[in-house]
Amino acid sequence: MQKKIDEFLKDVKTVAIAGHVNPDGDCVGSCMGMYLYLKDNFPQIQTEVYLEAPRRAFYVIRDLDKAKQDCVEYPCDLLILLDISSHDRIGVASCLLKSAKRVLCLDHHKTNRDSYTWLFNYPEISSTCEVVWNFLDSDKIGEKCAEALYMGMVHDTGVFQYASTSPRTMRIAASLMEKGIPFSRLIDETYYQKTFVQNQLLGRALVESFLMFDGKLIVSCIRKRDMDFYHATPADMDGIVSQMRNTSGVEVSVFMYELSEGTWKVSLRSVDQVDVSTVAQFFGGGGHARAAGVTMQGSCYDVINNLTQHLEKDLRQ
Ligand code: AMP
Ligand code: MN
Ligand code: MN
Repeated sequence: MQKKIDEFLKDVKTVAIAGHVNPDGDCVGSCMGMYLYLKDNFPQIQTEVYLEAPRRAFYVIRDLDKAKQDCVEYPCDLLILLDISSHDRIGVASCLLKSAKRVLCLDHHKTNRDSYTWLFNYPEISSTCEVVWNFLDSDKIGEKCAEALYMGMVHDTGVFQYASTSPRTMRIAASLMEKGIPFSRLIDETYYQKTFVQNQLLGRALVESFLMFDGKLIVSCIRKRDMDFYHATPADMDGIVSQMRNTSGVEVSVFMYELSEGTWKVSLRSVDQVDVSTVAQFFGGGGHARAAGVTMQGSCYDVINNLTQHLEKDLRQ
């Protein structure tokens, strides 16, 4: 039997909702969707949402300006963690983990192995927004909540393209559409539109990319000094690795950018054969079979060498 969020709210007076660092569309969508649903249907509960530096484009989601960017520890009755993949990615709200009376984690990352009061993790489901929808009463979802959940589903399915998109995903998206949301605008403004800086960085990453293993692997990196030149933030790097993956013949794309001298945020994407989450997990990261991430140390060549040693077996077949 599908559990509903109501079951976790008995005797609850304070709720905190948190996602992961550098929140993507699914993270913003699921956190805001849950927040707006609780605000609409449980006004007696004091609910806060924590999202660290969301991209400007996500502010089409209403009330995102109410999301808190910093956090003071307090003993909330229920902490709801969404799309986090691993407890070390919670970011600002991680201080709440110690003091929260109960923790409910909803996720869809196969690498999530943490333990909480309740963990509902569905790696076969395309987005945390879809997981969240299952916990809500469809009739009680308002337009604002529907916009947030729809946006997250769009982002984690690559606009309903990736293999994780199921007939049920489409049915849920349809039911959200029926709430009267501006779906074209949500897709265009949050998924396809890029800022000038984002496009410049994408261009740079593509120009400097190179192929390995007979064109099955594409790699590119952007150094800190180049990011500084463009005044770029980590959020500006979203989508570059997916664009690289669109190169014909490519099975795996690897894009990395330097967080600080010698520390790299690495993103991996796979077309349909290689499970990149196992490689990411080996180096301390995680994610999904077709999309994973990890932070690694060294020069960019060290990072590439370490990764290719693990990818070689899969890509030589
Ligand atoms: P990214 O390349 O950052 O877009 O991440 C791809 C997928 O892997 C997303 O679903 C992330 O939530 C997940 N992921 C990224 N980095 C990590 C990490 N260090 N640990 C666990 N999961 C991660
Ligand atoms: Mn995410
Ligand atoms: Mn997700």
